[in-house]
Amino acid sequence: MDEQGTTTWATVRDRLHARGLRWTPQRRTLVDVLARADGHVTGADLVDRCRAIDPATTPSTVYRTLDVLEELGIVRHHHGPDGREEFHVLPESEHGHLHCRQCDASWEIDAAEVESMLAGLRAARGFEVDISHISLEGRCAQCRQIGEG
Ligand SMILES: [Zn+2]
Ligand SMILES: [Zn+2]
Ligand SMILES: [Zn+2]
Repeated sequence: MDEQGTTTWATVRDRLHARGLRWTPQRRTLVDVLARADGHVTGADLVDRCRAIDPATTPSTVYRTLDVLEELGIVRHHHGPDGREEFHVLPESEHGHLHCRQCDASWEIDAAEVESMLAGLRAARGFEVDISHISLEGRCAQCRQIGEG
């Protein structure tokens, strides 16, 4: 973990406290689990990992704490192909996702790649799209090639 990440986890206790959340063993367990998580994790996965450490973990505490951590910018959620929430820990930048329905792979897309679509919607409808909620489903280049061959 880089220096910025380490600092974030060191201050998370104070930042939760400032939001009126007590630093309970369950919350500490969740923060420990998150600090070790990589890539996308579902809420259910996080509950399972916390329960492996502390069987008394309640899903409602995990989800409520995740909400506050998201407001603090420490995690961000998007929706997987099945609509479930998936969490990114310390996202480096806002991004959306592409999902291939044929091979089930997914890719991250950055703001620049969808800027023209976002600008069009902003101009035509005054609508500001939340980039992390852009999840597009289709077929990837490789699957399309196989399909044509
Ligand atoms: Zn959402
Ligand atoms: Zn594919
Ligand atoms: Zn992602």
